[in-house]
Amino acid sequence: MQLTFLGATGTVTGSRYLLEQGGQRLLLDCGLFQGVKQLRLRNWTPLPVDPASVGAVVLTHAHLDHSGWLPRLVRDGFRGVTHASSPTQALCGLLLLDSAHLLEEESAYANRHGWSKHSPALPLYTQQDARAALETIQGHRFGEAFEPLPGWRVTLHRAGHLLGAASVRVEAGGRSILFSGDLGGERDLLMPGPEDPETADTVVVESTYGDRERPPGDALDAIADVVSRTAARGGIVVVPTFAVGRAQAVAWALHQLKQRHRIPDLPVFLNSPMAAAATGLYREYCHEQLLTPAQFRDLERSIRVVETVEESKALNGLRMPAVILSASGMASGGRVLHHLKAFAPDPRNCLLFVGFQAAGTRGAAIVAGVPSVKIHGSHVPIHAEVRRVDGLSAHADRRELLAWLGRLPGAPARVYVTHGEPAAADALRQAIEEQYRWPCVVPEHLQSVTV
Ligand code: ZN
Repeated sequence: MQLTFLGATGTVTGSRYLLEQGGQRLLLDCGLFQGVKQLRLRNWTPLPVDPASVGAVVLTHAHLDHSGWLPRLVRDGFRGVTHASSPTQALCGLLLLDSAHLLEEESAYANRHGWSKHSPALPLYTQQDARAALETIQGHRFGEAFEPLPGWRVTLHRAGHLLGAASVRVEAGGRSILFSGDLGGERDLLMPGPEDPETADTVVVESTYGDRERPPGDALDAIADVVSRTAARGGIVVVPTFAVGRAQAVAWALHQLKQRHRIPDLPVFLNSPMAAAATGLYREYCHEQLLTPAQFRDLERSIRVVETVEESKALNGLRMPAVILSASGMASGGRVLHHLKAFAPDPRNCLLFVGFQAAGTRGAAIVAGVPSVKIHGSHVPIHAEVRRVDGLSAHADRRELLAWLGRLPGAPARVYVTHGEPAAADALRQAIEEQYRWPCVVPEHLQSVTV
């Protein structure tokens, strides 16, 4: 079997792996490149093989850096079936349409302001393309093998991380390969930890936190500290958060802290229509996560969902302590930008980051301590307190990644480390070689190997 790394090398975005065997092609993940411009430009590069020659796609999960290029693939000629877990299929219904909507808005904005070198600027794909992509998706149960192409066998195993997220084991031509997908941590507030991996000849493992171990302290303690301190000085906590998964986890953390009287009973606004819709899907697939239906009802009652743009704007006039959860998680777009403009210049407020911030994003810059950021063409000074709480990340840390690999029933012939910034990927490679003595490689972009 031939494996070509079409993305997620040297970066945490653009997950795409091409598998070729017996004249058939399967694409594992079909993600968007995000972050620095040099990476984003790759979204405009055609797939190195004809999309019509790809027989099937398998998605590990619904995050856009794993699924967000599917509408483009379909637009460029892919005519096969896309396989995913049923919750992933449902979440893609929200995420792909939202992504298309944002891309359309971005190009319309560029056209209005004459920013684009291309005239007119075209979106990478449209909502119509996204709808066509959604029609290709077929949902599967975890643990039940299916045949995406004749002679190929694929099984999805729960990966923690996000509702529906899977590790994917592929068998073809007498070889087996296991893709970790994005692995969740063992202390996630909503998702159970990843299932034990099945043995495979080759393993491809993510390394987002390959060079980091979460501090032993409790994430709830850190949040309690930040929220009470900000509330005491009359400030507002703005939490840029991914609408799916993180928003619900943070809301649950805040609810628990209020119940234990560890933070004041301040209002918690969920300002993201998609987060509200995603919360509905978490309720529908309640059995896939840790909260009981009753706890989930408590969670929903504890948040005030902001629906309209007018309500969203009104939040910027808030003059009492509150928490605002709003997307996007890396402050690269969405409603949270308006809140950053309104609240970042006031030192009473706090900007709280709870997820991974990819290099090149506004979120990464703020966490790194820049004095100002550019939002909608103007410079916004950052005088608010900036805090990052790592304990709520949806990703396994280095210890947990190594523990997951250690649960493989047999030694793989080779491990490929992907989905990490270069330092993180290399640190995990070294750790795997030291701890397990397995041959381990950090592949290059577009590298092709026989597995
Ligand atoms: Zn992910």
